[in-house]
Amino acid sequence: MGQISGAETLVMALKKNGVKRIYGLVGIPVTDFARLAQNKGIDYVGFRREDAAVNAAAIAGYLNGEPGISLTVSAPGFMNGIPALAAATVNGFPLIMISGSSQREKIDLSRGDYEELDQYNIAKPFAKATYRIDRPQDIGIGVARAFRTAISGRPGGVYLDVPADMLQAVIDADQADEITYQPSFMNLKQVADIDCIAQAKELLQQAKKPLLIIGKGAAYAKAENEVQSFVEKLNIPYLPMSMAKGLIDDTHALSMAPARSLALKEADVILLVGARLNWLLSHGEAPKFNPNAKFIQVDIKAEEFDSNRPITVPLLGDLRSVMLQLLNQFDGQLDISEWIDELQKKKQENIQKLSQKYLLHTEPMGFYEALNVLKKQIDQNPDIYLVSEGANTLDLGRNIIDIHLPRHRLDVGTWGVMGIGLGYAIGASLETNCKVIALEGDSAFGFSGMEVETICRYNLPIVIVVMNNGGIYRGVDIENTTTRPSPTQLSSKGHYEMLMEAFGGKGYYVTNVNEFEVALKNAIELNGPALIHVEIDNTAGSESGHLTYLNPKISVEESKA
Ligand code: ADP
Ligand code: MG
Repeated sequence: MGQISGAETLVMALKKNGVKRIYGLVGIPVTDFARLAQNKGIDYVGFRREDAAVNAAAIAGYLNGEPGISLTVSAPGFMNGIPALAAATVNGFPLIMISGSSQREKIDLSRGDYEELDQYNIAKPFAKATYRIDRPQDIGIGVARAFRTAISGRPGGVYLDVPADMLQAVIDADQADEITYQPSFMNLKQVADIDCIAQAKELLQQAKKPLLIIGKGAAYAKAENEVQSFVEKLNIPYLPMSMAKGLIDDTHALSMAPARSLALKEADVILLVGARLNWLLSHGEAPKFNPNAKFIQVDIKAEEFDSNRPITVPLLGDLRSVMLQLLNQFDGQLDISEWIDELQKKKQENIQKLSQKYLLHTEPMGFYEALNVLKKQIDQNPDIYLVSEGANTLDLGRNIIDIHLPRHRLDVGTWGVMGIGLGYAIGASLETNCKVIALEGDSAFGFSGMEVETICRYNLPIVIVVMNNGGIYRGVDIENTTTRPSPTQLSSKGHYEMLMEAFGGKGYYVTNVNEFEVALKNAIELNGPALIHVEIDNTAGSESGHLTYLNPKISVEESKA
């Protein structure tokens, strides 16, 4: 009977759980583990910084509905991955972050081991759960537990601590095979309480101005067919949250995204489908929402109900099952034609207003005309995945660029966090084999910019678009009374495209709409790494994008005193 290492047992456990890819950054003590995984047929993708690797794994989890796997080294590498672990948990993306760590008995006596850190406990507040494998014979259950936890209920990030001596340990091959397994029935159906379903029906039928709000929970649940059938059967208007854009084609007649403010303000019964009433929905409060609105909420996590506004009807269950239950309650359309007409009118007015802004052709460009170039490309190539981060680039892009297919918009998510861009782009590209555009503000790009090298090393069909208006929010800051660069200022005269060329990708520098159109079309056809530096007017954009209200204003005079 042969013997194998703990590392090999871990590979065996991951493979039995269907793992095809690991996103990581190696070093002590996981280098050989990564080599072994690769040689055993798991695709290993190496990054330049851990948060990008963990972000890539998180978006793989979101796209596949199975935990994405990341690998980091001890202490500093582990900590670099923590922001992405936390973001995945907040977003509800299934992820297993595996990290090597130093020897437990030295850590526990604070004996000053190499990169000594109590990673298992430190990860706790940032993860859905943390587990540590303390004996080689627990490798199987450790991995099974991580998988079960990451995707059950509301998905999230699981931290799995693997001390160096667990990787080195030796175990009988037969025993390794026995202890490693895949948990059964990982996608349990969960239907809602039938009394709640009946009440939901009643409330929706009585409503004069019902509205559906679709969130990324519905996109994660792959509930596009159920949700679209429901919308069309009832003829009910809906609003998609940012990453739910495309779950139903944004050009659908019942999408009231262009009349969002009116829809939220007026709706009297709101059905939340995989969307939380958090800050992104103003906590459901007036004046954004009708103070008398009643809420029905579909969610897998009971604690979510009543987190912000009273939820009249909680529909606890998995989204697809619950939407099917609801669908079966109705025979046909709701009688709400006046409400639809009111929304339609506003929608057309706003679309008209927005399209006027595309007509400006200045040099350097403003955001609207530049983003319209991307809109047109995505309309023609709807299977391209759009990753986006930034402030104005993100906010205006969300309004301007229609998404036509489910899960094709990947962005800053629940935290509105910067730094997800290239990690998400790489993850999306590898998991879907589709082309990706990473639409980045110049500031946002900086947080993961070195992954350009990763994109080139793997020769991925990713087009990075850097909208350079020379700063965080924008390049000019009227409040700067010194000769030093303002806190918000970044290089407007640089050449981001040269970063791409340095590693063998294709770079473009464009200053007007015509050049941008040609470059984007060309870059997409290349089917390889490309970066387009788009020169944007330094005065374009507003401070904090659409979040100005969250940015406490302190007068400069006051702060000097
Ligand atoms: P958005 O930011 O798009 O509004 P959120 O992330 O705030 O979306 O909300 C997503 C919600 O979807 C979460 O409350 C989560 O618990 C829920 N959810 C995730 N997966 C499922 C599922 N399979 N069934 C039902 N609800 C789900
Ligand atoms: Mg900027």
